[in-house]
Amino acid sequence: MTNADLNYDVLIVGAGVVGCAIARELARHRKREGEAFRVGVLEKEPDVSFGTSSRNSAVLHSGINYAPGSLRGALNVKGNAMMDRLCADLKVPIKRIGKLTVALTEEDLPGLHKQRSQGEANGVPGMELMDNAKMRTIQPGIEGILGLWTPTSAIISSFGLTIALAENAQANGVDFHLNCEVVGVERGEGKRTFGVRGSDGRVYTSRLLINAAGLHCDEVSAMLGITDVKIWSCRGEYYVLDRRLDGTLKTLIYPVPGPNDPGLGIHLTPTVDGNILIGPSATYIPEEDREDYRATSAVMADLRREGLHLLPDLAASDFIRSFSGNRPKQTPPEKGGNADFTIEETSVPGFIHLLGIESPGLTSSPAIAGMVRDMVAKHIPLAERDDFAPERPGFIGTFAELPLEQRMDLIRTEPEYGEVICRCERITKREIRQAIENPLGARTMASIKYRARAQMGRCQGGFCMPRIVRMLRDEYGFDPKDFFIRGGAPMFSGHVREGGDGR
Ligand SMILES: Cc1cc2nc3c(=O)[nH]c(=O)nc-3n(C[C@H](O)[C@H](O)[C@H](O)COP(=O)(O)OP(=O)(O)OC[C@H]3O[C@@H](n4cnc5c(N)ncnc54)[C@H](O)[C@@H]3O)c2cc1C
Repeated sequence: MTNADLNYDVLIVGAGVVGCAIARELARHRKREGEAFRVGVLEKEPDVSFGTSSRNSAVLHSGINYAPGSLRGALNVKGNAMMDRLCADLKVPIKRIGKLTVALTEEDLPGLHKQRSQGEANGVPGMELMDNAKMRTIQPGIEGILGLWTPTSAIISSFGLTIALAENAQANGVDFHLNCEVVGVERGEGKRTFGVRGSDGRVYTSRLLINAAGLHCDEVSAMLGITDVKIWSCRGEYYVLDRRLDGTLKTLIYPVPGPNDPGLGIHLTPTVDGNILIGPSATYIPEEDREDYRATSAVMADLRREGLHLLPDLAASDFIRSFSGNRPKQTPPEKGGNADFTIEETSVPGFIHLLGIESPGLTSSPAIAGMVRDMVAKHIPLAERDDFAPERPGFIGTFAELPLEQRMDLIRTEPEYGEVICRCERITKREIRQAIENPLGARTMASIKYRARAQMGRCQGGFCMPRIVRMLRDEYGFDPKDFFIRGGAPMFSGHVREGGDGR
């Protein structure tokens, strides 16, 4: 790579859903004067979507939760409306299953009516208040005295969307530099450029710098002397339930949130893959490790209790795993609640930061990208490209979910579609291969899991992981010492038997 390759018009720090949506939106454009428009993304992890963007409820919110006139309310409604087209182009699973926000007692009613009037002011389409009988036509057996129905609420694959945005941005010319933490930023000569120091030892230069670093946004802003902003990390823990329960929930069911709740309350959320999530909790965690993604026994016990209360037939074996995700909050623990998003060009011209992109950041991501594009266009006049390719050619989605005829045809042309590697999720060797050969060059086990969905089922990789490891070693020549789950510690540290080679 030459020095010229490290010069960009726009550099984005952080490859979560927000950074990747911005990257793809910029890729849809060229400079109006016709010169090359160079966009790069710097990400500290070995893959995109390893931060909050793979650690959330994966719900597309309707926009009833946010104050009228807030950026969050406006971007949520706009982003939600953009998702059908985006997901169709990128072949990302999305299900418009709607949501019931349910008042269980009279005390919940003022909060429910507040949500409805916020929704009206924010332009949320199709809302309806429902009595218990009407709610039961949507979700049999549901308790509660009044519900607010929002048909635009949906579920999506959050990491699927982030990966698709990144891979499509890359196919349209954006450079992704993984394993590259931004460790310093200086202004260049005449203060017209930024010099961005990466942990890979390189200095990247750029005319504009966009800080989409999630939990670490304030630290990146501080590198340019902006020290009056602060992020607190607030953890949300979840249990994942087995796919045996697929179909139990017909819609999303949420409690009415209290005024100072840091989240939307613990609830059951069906996922596009057929699991159910219980959570998320909300616990501010110490400053030292904002990415402490522990699942704690106390919270897990609470979630288990809550799960059994809501679904009394749950068996112990239905709780298949836990995970957590941390909200980048602008409100300190003593205040709680939520602040609006901060998306602005800072006092440093050309430096745009996005702070406090907690929920509904996933839903809002395409609308946030449009807003940032307009900020970029004030510095670099842009025009839409005629040759932008919005789709992901060759990507078929999940093989097991295709119609039988199509699966038979695919097996005839690509016999590896006929060999199942992950039994729980019915993922084929061809899909694993496609995930291994991903265009971003991400090589961790989580990268394969997020792309192919292998290791996500009841056995959590017990059956398929050794087969994937063997494939990586035998067919791609990878040294098992270099296998990582997500980054951090390697998967293997030696041989079980003296002189063995693991075969
Ligand atoms: C528990 C929970 C539930 C949620 N549920 C929902 C929901 O249902 N619906 C919804 O719309 N939203 C939801 N959200 C919010 C949503 O997940 C976030 O708003 C969104 O993922 C934020 O994306 P991001 O790209 O800003 O951040 P991230 O995904 O965290 O991406 C930031 C990236 O920057 C990288 N980075 C950080 N520092 C550096 C550096 N110095 N150099 C290079 N790279 C760096 C990180 O590694 C990371 O990959 C939820 C969030 C949580 C925590």
